[in-house]
Amino acid sequence: MTTITLETPVTGKYEQPVGLFINNEFIKGKKGQEFEVINPTNEKVICKVHEALEEDVDIAVAAARKAFASGSEYRTMSTARRGKLLLDLADLFEKNIDTLAAIESLDNGKSITMAKGDVGACIGCLRYYGGWADKIHGKVITTAEGTFAYTKREAVGVCGQIIPWNFPLLMWAWKIGPAIACGCTVVLKTAEQTPLSGLYAAKLCKEAGFPPGVVNVISGFGKTAGAAIANHMDIDKVAFTGSTLVGRSILKASASSNLKKVTLELGGKSPNIVFEDADIDEAISWVNFGIFYNHGQCCCAGSRIYVQESIYDEFVKKFKERAQKNVVGDPFHKDTFQGPQVSQLQYDRIMDYIKIGKDEGATIETGGERHGDVGYFIQPTIFSNVNHDMKIMQEEIFGPVCAIAKFKDIDDVLNIGNDSTYGLAAAVHTKNLNTAIKVSDGLKAGTVWVNQYNMLHWSLPFGGFRQSGIGRELGKAALENYTQIKTVSINMKGALF
Ligand code: ADP
Repeated sequence: MTTITLETPVTGKYEQPVGLFINNEFIKGKKGQEFEVINPTNEKVICKVHEALEEDVDIAVAAARKAFASGSEYRTMSTARRGKLLLDLADLFEKNIDTLAAIESLDNGKSITMAKGDVGACIGCLRYYGGWADKIHGKVITTAEGTFAYTKREAVGVCGQIIPWNFPLLMWAWKIGPAIACGCTVVLKTAEQTPLSGLYAAKLCKEAGFPPGVVNVISGFGKTAGAAIANHMDIDKVAFTGSTLVGRSILKASASSNLKKVTLELGGKSPNIVFEDADIDEAISWVNFGIFYNHGQCCCAGSRIYVQESIYDEFVKKFKERAQKNVVGDPFHKDTFQGPQVSQLQYDRIMDYIKIGKDEGATIETGGERHGDVGYFIQPTIFSNVNHDMKIMQEEIFGPVCAIAKFKDIDDVLNIGNDSTYGLAAAVHTKNLNTAIKVSDGLKAGTVWVNQYNMLHWSLPFGGFRQSGIGRELGKAALENYTQIKTVSINMKGALF
C-alpha cells in the first residue's frame, strides 16, 4: 500500500501517502524496504513509509531529468504558467492547512499553533516565489560599438534537495519555491524522522497540476538516499539544510563527483545580546522565544544570551520566571508552546549536554530534567555562571537549553559574541539606535535582529557567515541558487582582421 489511513485529534481520519513520490505517483521502493515513523509525544510507531535506496534515487533523478528535457511540457510552459503552479499549490496548502499542521504536530511534535504558523509561512513563501517566476531576467551589457551582449538566467537543471526534521514542511517550501520559480526540477529527500508532511504536500503538487517528474519527494536515510543524491552524477545542484558535519560531507561529495553546485544552510550558536537600556520585559519575551521556540530545535536559536552586567541579576530572575510559564506538553493542546524533542537520539544528545553543563560547573537556574514520563520532553533549561570556553557556550545543543553570561560594553560583547565558528544569526536589544547599528555592523552573522528574534520572512535572505553555510535562502537571493548566468555576445561588425 502506498496510502494508508491515519488519525489525528484535529483531522479525525485522513489519507496519508507513504510511498515514494516519483513521476506524480506514489510507488514502493525497488527493494520493497520500509521504515518506521515514530510519534515523539508517545514514542509509538505512527506508521511505516517506503524507503528510497540508491536505485530509487536513480529512478527519481531520471524522472526529474526527463521533466527538464527541452521540449517537455514543463520546459515549454510560459513562465507565468510556471508561477501559477506555485500559486495554485499555495491555495491548496491554504485549503489543507489544518491537515498539514496536524501531520506536522503528529510527526514532529511541534505544537499545533506553531505548526499552523509554519504552514502559513509555507503559503507566503510559495506565493512569493510564484510571483517571481515571470520576473527573472538578464541584462543587456554594452561593451563596444558593433557588439551586442546580453545575459540570461537559465535554470540550473535537476536539483537534489535534502531537508531536516525541525521544520519539515517549511524547509520543503523554502526549497521547492525558488527551484520551481527558476524552472528547475527537483528530487527532495525529507528527513527520516519526519517524512509525512512532505509526502502529503507532494500529493498537493499533483493536484495543482505540476507535470510528472517536476517535483519528486522521497523518504530515506542520510547515509543511503542522502549520500546517493550528494554523489549523483546527473544532479546539477544540491541544496542542503542540516548539521555542519553533514554539510561538509555534501561539499566533499560534490567535489569528488560532478562538481554539482552546492548551497548549505547549517548550524549555529547565535548570540542574543541585551543592553541595560532595553525594555527588559520585552527583551525577556524575545529571548524566551529566541531559544525555546520549536523546542530549541532551530539552527538560528538564540542559545548564547549576553546581558549587560548592571541588569544581569534582574534579567536572570525575570527570565527564569518567564521560562517556567512556557506550557510544555501535548502538541495538540491549544495552550502548548513546547512539545517533545523529535527523537530519542535528540533527547539523549540534549540530556548529555545538560550533564556536561552541570559537570563543567555552570548553575541550572531552571529546568535540566525530563518533563513527564512518556515522550521526548525536556524542561526549558537555563544555565547561568557559564564561562565562554564551556562546551554549553560553544557547541550547538539544538534543544531547549541556553547559557547566560554578563558583558561590560559594546567592545566586550562583540569580542565574545563573535568568538564562534558559526555565524548564522544574532540579536541585539536596546533602545539606542546607535548601539543597535554599531552592534549589528560588528556581528559576524547572516541575520541580525534588533529588539526581536526568529522573525524570518520569505522576502528576507537567510543564511550563514563562516561555518553556518554557503549561499542564501529566501528572498531574491535564493534565485541565484537555482539559475546560472549565460552570456551571449554578438559581433555585428564583420571579420576581426
Ligand atoms: P540532524 O543531526 O539534525 O538530524 P543531519 O544533518 O544529520 O541533521 O540531517 C539533515 C538531513 O541530512 C536529513 O535529511 C538527513 O537524512 C540527511 N543526511 C544525513 N547524513 C547524510 C549524508 N551523509 N549525506 C546526505 N544527506 C545526509
